Amino acid sequence: MASLRLFSTNHQSLLLPSSLSHNPLTSSSPRFVKNPSRRSPIRSVLQFNRKPELAGETPRIVVITSGKGGVGKTTTTANVGLSLARYGFSVVAIDADLGLRNLDLLLGLENRVNYTCVEVINGDCRLDQALVRDKRWSNFELLCISKPRSKLPMGFGGKALEWLVDALKTRPEGSPDFIIIDCPAGIDAGFITAITPANEAILVTTPDITALRDADRVTGLLECDGIRDIKMIVNRVRTDMIRGEDMMSVLDVQEMLGLSLLGAIPEDSEVIRSTNRGFPLVLNKPPTLAGLAFEQAAWRLVEQDSMKAVMVEEEPKKRGFFSFFGG
Ligand code: ADP
Ligand code: MG
Repeated sequence: MASLRLFSTNHQSLLLPSSLSHNPLTSSSPRFVKNPSRRSPIRSVLQFNRKPELAGETPRIVVITSGKGGVGKTTTTANVGLSLARYGFSVVAIDADLGLRNLDLLLGLENRVNYTCVEVINGDCRLDQALVRDKRWSNFELLCISKPRSKLPMGFGGKALEWLVDALKTRPEGSPDFIIIDCPAGIDAGFITAITPANEAILVTTPDITALRDADRVTGLLECDGIRDIKMIVNRVRTDMIRGEDMMSVLDVQEMLGLSLLGAIPEDSEVIRSTNRGFPLVLNKPPTLAGLAFEQAAWRLVEQDSMKAVMVEEEPKKRGFFSFFGG
């Protein structure tokens, strides 16, 4: 029987992300630097003998979207965002999921969010007061649009988010390398707001038909908005189900959506465990398969690289002696 496996075009990205040999909690690497992009590369990167080369104009403004809810947008934002920070880039993650904000929970930063973008826009606080700096990686900051369960504030739309992104670019400590925006599910006002400042997108989907239909619709909307650089992450992949032909393969998904592939993340119970602990998967020691896949996806994002999903025919079993006799 044919089995399906994933291969990367980028040999380097198949290597173990070394960052996992580095404990962020006990590390003596600098916690706060004025311009994190200029600090010396962290140990993790040195194991590749280089830091990923940042391609494209900075800041890279990336929206993480899907259409369907519950496919892993917030998980991707947290893990890709922290991986970028561990590679030495300065990152601001914006939680643009208004009603169902939970990026702060995944990152374990929920108790430190005192102000949100709404207060910044209203002039009740400064932008730097609304930015929550991660204690593990000081070059990672979180910005929430509003308080949990609150409605989209009147007048808060794409223009307001663009204004905030511009303010981030002109901060005295310098513009971040990456601004990543966790988009809400659906294609209504919240979605439009989240995609407005972005110039590239990561489309997260699971290999099921409902998520794919939504992903296809969202791809069209992103293109209409002028976002042409769209890469996808296929999440919750189960090779046992693919082998049993109960789940679409990553190759099938790629052929259906026609997007370049940034990563394929296996279904992993550690994701749920790490979500509940507020400790993103990529920080786990020992590494988990899904954590490694997120790190590799982040590496490809930096270099504007992609991977290829290919179908590999399993070698037919060697015929035994008795097969000559029809055994
Ligand atoms: P979204 O932001 O798209 O609504 P989330 O990132 O909140 O989705 O993920 C929804 C749920 O799926 C969470 O409980 C999360 O832990 C779980 N999840 C996401 N990715 C995986 C994975 N690769 N393996 C197992 N569970 C996952
Ligand atoms: Mg979410």
